[in-house]
Amino acid sequence: MLVFFGAPGVGKGTQAKIISSKFNIPHISTGDILRNAIAKKTELGIIAKGIMDKGDLLPDDIMIGLVKNVLISDKCKKGFILDGFPRTLNQAEMLQPIVEELFDDPLTLITLVAEDKVIIDRLAQRRMCSTCSSIVNLNFLKSTNTCPTCGTENSFVKRKDDEVEVIKNRLDVFHKTTKPVLDFYNDHAVNHQIDATMSVENITKAICKAIEC
Ligand code: AMP
Repeated sequence: MLVFFGAPGVGKGTQAKIISSKFNIPHISTGDILRNAIAKKTELGIIAKGIMDKGDLLPDDIMIGLVKNVLISDKCKKGFILDGFPRTLNQAEMLQPIVEELFDDPLTLITLVAEDKVIIDRLAQRRMCSTCSSIVNLNFLKSTNTCPTCGTENSFVKRKDDEVEVIKNRLDVFHKTTKPVLDFYNDHAVNHQIDATMSVENITKAICKAIEC
């Protein structure tokens, strides 16, 4: 039962995908679920679009309903990695009884830490595959236009919420909501803080060591 916590752009999604495929644990990214809903123009997607484009957060009750539906599904029976949830104290408080009811083990937090400056630079440089949501750095696209994950050509786009002004708002929102969430987990989970400025491989190693894989 892992929660990947940290500012937007700190590398939660990248690491969650690696750990998910290495250990065959489902990766639940609330951002990906919402982007998928936007692409399919569902009712949720229509609500989410304007909020996400500004870098604000969706209402807690919508988010907890969405996550609960996934957690009660069979695919999460043996565990899960939550990426991008919980983001507020309210979400953490609403998640706790669900986890206690459905699972024997407590949550483990993996908190990835980096300074805002590093994050702003990284987000401005990242591009997302519009087919499979994989993230790459602009430098990578100098040598190829093919997505290394799904093989689609010319599929990389800049996320609207990776524009600098929106990034700054997302970071503001993160800083306002972080401390109460971390305070809550001081009493409810083990929290491993990991330096997110290391290489992808070294961050993965540190996460594996933290969760004793
Ligand atoms: P992410 O891909 O995790 O950076 O999420 C992208 C955007 O989706 C966020 O900036 C929010 O607008 C929305 N979002 C994702 N997860 C949550 C959440 N747990 N609570 C509220 N909004 C969320």
